[in-house]
Amino acid sequence: MRRIYLDANATTPLLPEVLEAMRPFFLEQFGNASSIHQEGQHARWAVEQARASVARFLGCRPAEIVFTSGGTESDNLAIFGSVKPGDHVITTAIEHHAVLHAVEKLRDRAVDVDFLPVNGQGLVAVGDIRKALRPNTRLISVMMANNETGVLQPVGEIGRIAAEAKVRFHVDAVQAAGKLPLEVDAIGCHLLTISGHKMHAPQGTGVLFVRRGTRLEPLFAGGAHERQRRAGTENVAGIVGLGKAAECAMEGLRSGVPERIRALRDRLERGLLERVSEAGVNGGQAPRVPNTTNLWFDHLEGEALVIALDLKGLAGSSGAACASGASEPSHVLEAMGVPAQRARASLRLSLQKQTTDEEIDQALLLVTAQVARLRELSVDGNGYRKSVPAVAR
Ligand code: PLP
Repeated sequence: MRRIYLDANATTPLLPEVLEAMRPFFLEQFGNASSIHQEGQHARWAVEQARASVARFLGCRPAEIVFTSGGTESDNLAIFGSVKPGDHVITTAIEHHAVLHAVEKLRDRAVDVDFLPVNGQGLVAVGDIRKALRPNTRLISVMMANNETGVLQPVGEIGRIAAEAKVRFHVDAVQAAGKLPLEVDAIGCHLLTISGHKMHAPQGTGVLFVRRGTRLEPLFAGGAHERQRRAGTENVAGIVGLGKAAECAMEGLRSGVPERIRALRDRLERGLLERVSEAGVNGGQAPRVPNTTNLWFDHLEGEALVIALDLKGLAGSSGAACASGASEPSHVLEAMGVPAQRARASLRLSLQKQTTDEEIDQALLLVTAQVARLRELSVDGNGYRKSVPAVAR
């Protein structure tokens, strides 16, 4: 059975050219980029080439790129590196836990945090950002694309407000990178996070863009790597992979990959809504990244659907974040006002560059059939079987 992978927002496979670019740095070119001998200098050269590629990808200077171990570290560096006791931080209720849990910790450090709400489509109101500003506001942190719904926040407008107010602006762009053009100057941010493994580079690689003149307190004590912003021997092979993935992403953006993925996503979404009754799309009216759809199908458990689909060869993800074994309804859907039961009945499908037409045909059949089967199995509170028509046409 050939599996269908529709969980690109969780992680993506390496592109073959990324693996090829990395290979020598595990074997014959294994030097430490801080060493002065030839092995070291070769590694240094490769890291700087990758830095230049990522800088082109983000429209910034190479010196503004800091390589990290991933999106979580970059978010933490942006937040903990910016804020001191007595400061105020503005963020949203729908951030990834890498931001949410980091800013929650700030509260123990005498930092006030405002978590702004979103509307039913998952969008933050720009006016709310303006209203939340205080004289001691140090940082605004708003994600570009949500990992669960794909909804895009108006980061350019928020950047203009931050500039007027002279407040530092961090953007978690992990789920936007490679899916649409990213320009740090158009966004107007001081800090921007990307993660390698969401864009066909290896897991455990990431970047924090740090605008020139933006002072950051490093997270780690250690060597003077990354211009004293991130101590620790560089992950040379991983960085080379990230540089290559950035080049591939630029090529993909030029050659219309996002448009192709959007057409596939839209066909999948439309097809499911035509075939399945009592279903909808969370955030479907908002601007979204092209690869993501978050659908709800009433009268079933999203997790059961994910498991049923997995057994049939399709990898997707449920709207429930399953931490410590207990599945909690997603904080993102909850913030959007989606009732808990419907949030639990949600399925996220996220496409990648390799997704084909045939896979979408197959996914349409599989999801329709499994929703129907689970609904038939579902029983109501009195123990009676529900007779919910799963297939509308
Ligand atoms: N931010 C967002 C929006 C994400 O989706 C993720 C990962 O799912 C992260 C941050 C964390 O990135 P990493 O897995 O590289 O630590």
